[in-house]
Amino acid sequence: MSTHDVLIVGSGHNALVCALLLARSGQRVHVLERADVIGGATRSERPFRRAPEVQCSTGAYLLGLMPPELVTKLDVDLPLIRRDPHYFLPTTEGRYLLFGSDRDALRRQMIDAFGEADWEADQRLQAELDAFREDVGPAWMAPALSVEETAERHVRPALRQAFVDLCRGSIGDYLERFGFESDLLKAMYAVTDGFTGSTGTGTPRAPA
Ligand SMILES: Cc1cc2nc3c(=O)[nH]c(=O)nc-3n(C[C@H](O)[C@H](O)[C@H](O)COP(=O)(O)OP(=O)(O)OC[C@H]3O[C@@H](n4cnc5c(N)ncnc54)[C@H](O)[C@@H]3O)c2cc1C
Repeated sequence: MSTHDVLIVGSGHNALVCALLLARSGQRVHVLERADVIGGATRSERPFRRAPEVQCSTGAYLLGLMPPELVTKLDVDLPLIRRDPHYFLPTTEGRYLLFGSDRDALRRQMIDAFGEADWEADQRLQAELDAFREDVGPAWMAPALSVEETAERHVRPALRQAFVDLCRGSIGDYLERFGFESDLLKAMYAVTDGFTGSTGTGTPRAPA
């Protein structure tokens, strides 16, 4: 132990970022990982023995928590692929949604599959999330604050309570505010975007 200044338990991307920055600042860093591969929820694996070329993410598949400022600071070469379309919602009745960068196509699909009211609700949801992103973006690179302090310091006054409710409350209650009619759409947002996180879904394991 005396040969290390810092001991980091786990090797998810947060740990690896910390290890890199600490090591560069001259600290002797030791990273402990219980799995036999590093990377935590961000790593890709090939879990299918009969299709070894098929790669799957074990968790994170969108670059949500690695802001460009951090990539620059780390000076790492991170090859990125744009996922477009980025989302597929099938139903058992043949209806489906394919989300991509083409907003007109998405609008047509959403109205055809679910109706005008759900499209309008989705627009309201996306506008609020855009506003949160814009307000909270700078907080990612600043020292961590509580949810309430983050709201106070970064979020525009009209949306502060909504931000706290989104972070602290029920995703069901949050989605109800936008007037969605389709339970399927609400379930999609609740499960994919509201319930993402290693704590909620269980820490991914290395393949057997
Ligand atoms: C299904 C799913 C989808 C997600 N999608 C996205 C996404 O698209 N975009 C996004 O930005 N984020 C996404 N996330 C969230 C993202 O994966 C996590 O926020 C991120 O991985 C957290 O990184 P971390 O370094 O804190 O920990 P983790 O990635 O959870 O890594 C923790 C590591 O510590 C190890 N460990 C734990 N306990 C010990 C111990 N006692 N001793 C030794 N090692 C230990 C674990 O084996 C693991 O390797 C998703 C998460 C999940 C589960």
